[in-house]
Amino acid sequence: MVRDIVDYIKKENQITKEQLKILLELSEKSDIEYIMKEASQTSKISFGNNIYIRGLIEFTNYCRNDCYYCGIRNSNSNAKRYRLTDEQILNCCDIGYELGFRTFVLQGGEDTFFTDYKVCSLVSSIKNKYPDCAVTLSIGEKTKESYKAYFNAGADRYLLRHETANEKHYRMLHPEYMSLENRKRCLYDLKEIGYQTGCGFMVGSPGQTVETIYEDLLFILHLKPEMVGIGPFIPHKDTPFKNEKAGTLDMTLKLLAIIRLLCPKVLLPATTALGTIDPIGRELGILAGANVVMPNLSPSDVRNKYSLYDNKINTGCEAAENIKDLNNRFEKIGYKILVSRGDYSK
Ligand code: SAH
Repeated sequence: MVRDIVDYIKKENQITKEQLKILLELSEKSDIEYIMKEASQTSKISFGNNIYIRGLIEFTNYCRNDCYYCGIRNSNSNAKRYRLTDEQILNCCDIGYELGFRTFVLQGGEDTFFTDYKVCSLVSSIKNKYPDCAVTLSIGEKTKESYKAYFNAGADRYLLRHETANEKHYRMLHPEYMSLENRKRCLYDLKEIGYQTGCGFMVGSPGQTVETIYEDLLFILHLKPEMVGIGPFIPHKDTPFKNEKAGTLDMTLKLLAIIRLLCPKVLLPATTALGTIDPIGRELGILAGANVVMPNLSPSDVRNKYSLYDNKINTGCEAAENIKDLNNRFEKIGYKILVSRGDYSK
């Protein structure tokens, strides 16, 4: 039965709710391994044994929003706030370039200090200095005009997880003044402007069900993003969700595999959150069909402060400076890190 479902997803690039339910409820190790094997073969057809890398620069943890799950939410008065200067950010790029990174991801809270003018000048400084590199922004919800301005300044990609495609679930995760409608509007604007666009969601967030996940998959199939970011929800001690359970390794691996089978070419990271809930989480993510990793290029003294969830790993192989160790780990499972922009290709 599992084989029939996998064949159907591969052939049609579609999935029914019943099929999703069956796959998510599988508990036999051999069944889970089968889906992972099929997904990693699909990934190999698209990317060979190459793993794309992105240098993640967490450049500010100030945020005007108050998402219930997130450790840098505005009302967390325990968060030690920081923002990097342009000089510090460019310095991260210098270090990253030396290490072989050809994509820089600027991620942060929604920090009003970084006006459109500042974001544009930052993006163009990076692009001027490193014209052979891609710049990805992940700075939240903006107007279409702002997105256009960043794109014209040279930004190539934009990551904005939709978080959940179900209205009620969205309300459970976010304060009143945020809306799923605006989140989706942003994603469609980004696509229209011409960004390689990434959506995604947390696995096991409070209130998530097979139904909401099914809606997430339908949304992905409709948006046709170039990138999909998923990783386990992990509670943060200073948030309203501090006592909630974390998402599981198994569920995350199954969903990575399902997304790979549905979208053979999509850029799919094995996330830091996955590496946080399991010591070999990212390797397993690759073996479930992921093809991207995003080592941390932020200055080491701010890494602890960009605390979205508890116990975020920050000194081992996910640190950009330890890229060789990471490569060794991937070589053990038959993969290698590629020095390239790693663009989406149809
Ligand atoms: N402000 C930006 C970047 C957010 S941080 C934006 O709004 O897009 C990047 C992602 O981290 C979020 O989209 C969310 O899915 C994830 N995240 C936040 N808190 C988390 C938690 N407690 N556990 C796991 N992932 C979390």
